[in-house]
Amino acid sequence: MNRSDLDEKIRNANTVVIKIGSARLSGSEEEVNDFLFQLVADVRHLRDQGKKVVVVSSGAIARGRKMSETLPAIVNAGDSLSEKQALAAMGQNRLVNLYDSFFSKVNLPIAQILFGVLDLETGEGFKNLKNTFRQLLDWGILPIVNENDSVATEELKFGDNDVLSAVVSLIVEADILVILTGVSGFLREGKTVSYLPEVGSEELANAGGPSGPGTGGMYTKLKAATILKEAGIPTGIIDGAEKNCVRRFLEENRLGTLVGGNGKNRSYSEEEIKSILQSKRNGGTSR
Ligand code: GLU
Repeated sequence: MNRSDLDEKIRNANTVVIKIGSARLSGSEEEVNDFLFQLVADVRHLRDQGKKVVVVSSGAIARGRKMSETLPAIVNAGDSLSEKQALAAMGQNRLVNLYDSFFSKVNLPIAQILFGVLDLETGEGFKNLKNTFRQLLDWGILPIVNENDSVATEELKFGDNDVLSAVVSLIVEADILVILTGVSGFLREGKTVSYLPEVGSEELANAGGPSGPGTGGMYTKLKAATILKEAGIPTGIIDGAEKNCVRRFLEENRLGTLVGGNGKNRSYSEEEIKSILQSKRNGGTSR
């Protein structure tokens, strides 16, 4: 598929998954509000065009941490598993309330979906999750997804929401995954690479780890794109601070880095998704 066919495919994407990293939601109140105003405008625009949208959002731990700073009973919450799980439990409802306050302004009802690797182990869990997504999207509800951090243990975690957003894209059979991050895309010699048809070992070796409050970094974003490549689903890695970035990426296709997506679209079976998770658990993607 040449680039202009690919651009066309992206413009016509029907189901769009948008992944939002913790950094986008943990700046000053003004920065966070600016970001959310742009986001809701873009999502409203996509929905008005008849597209289905799913948001995968990090930020539970970051918002829980912010809250902990105002509570005298908590002195310097650290990074142990139990502290992070407690912070996620504190922050998750605040995160979703924040989304609700913004999306309700443009009349988009939202729903929260939290799940973890274990929920996909059983066939029933997988089917229920898939059906819930389908029902919400049929009803025109916007699912906001995160990992169920308070119950996931270190060994059984997706680990980072980049991989989670790839799994969600496979489950809902998305046409594109758009990852909003704090950099302009994948960089080579300081320059943004606008199109990366394949992710090779050289790109992975040059991708950095997390630089902000999240857990992923460029490495896990490229890993997520690699998972989706086989399914023919392209991944956009774009700077979430750019105005109307989602809309501009989908319509103009000239923002950030577009990875893969030139294969034939095909849906993944439950077994295939599980085997991806299995290999992720054995090989690991975080660093
Ligand atoms: N699920 C975690 C949270 O909501 C974030 C994981 C990540 O940074 O990718 O805080």
